[in-house]
Amino acid sequence: MSYVIPPPAQASLPILGTDARFPLRRVFCIGRNYAEHAREMNMPVDRARPLFFCKPADAVVADGADVPYPSGTANLHHEVEMVVALGGGGSHLDTAQAQAAIWGYGVGLDLTRRDLQAEAKAHGDPWDTAKAFDHSAPVSALRPAGEARLSADTALRLHVNGALRQQGRLGDMLHDAAQIIVALSMLFELKAGDLLFTGTPAGVAALARGDRFHAELDGIAELHGQIV
Ligand code: MN
Repeated sequence: MSYVIPPPAQASLPILGTDARFPLRRVFCIGRNYAEHAREMNMPVDRARPLFFCKPADAVVADGADVPYPSGTANLHHEVEMVVALGGGGSHLDTAQAQAAIWGYGVGLDLTRRDLQAEAKAHGDPWDTAKAFDHSAPVSALRPAGEARLSADTALRLHVNGALRQQGRLGDMLHDAAQIIVALSMLFELKAGDLLFTGTPAGVAALARGDRFHAELDGIAELHGQIV
């Protein structure tokens, strides 16, 4: 087998406690998964109609790496989210199968060109340029599911330049991780290597060049970086 151009690099994430890495296939994201965030965006809370979008796997930025301020926007927003990595997949999964497909957890930022998203919403256009741009998905090292003690009270936090910007608890998600996987599996065949961004709590706001961010999924994963 030979290629006419060099094949693209395999996107991957580090794993806590080992040198082996987690290879990435697709990145799925759910929108409006916290009621208070839906409200701050002036959008209705609609449990029955989960909103999904995707980012390319090569938009993932590892912990500690600089994030270049993207072109084409004057309003780059942070959205801190729990990230779920899949070690299995399938279509039309039930809740038990969805839970079993979870390989590990991390924390990430669903970076958003908020001005382009607002324009897309106003014109009924797709969200790709608002959500799926280069470097739009900083993600921590992953913690294997067997080592992660998650509960409804597990906190998600984002500090920017030392000030608390976002805080939420997993129990406030409208759809939990297994429910997101079940719903996605009705629309896509999920596979090992897929990553899910599970939605952001309230408090989304702008990032500027020079800002340092510190995201935490309490006791499970941490992400540091700087907008440059
Ligand atoms: Mn988001």
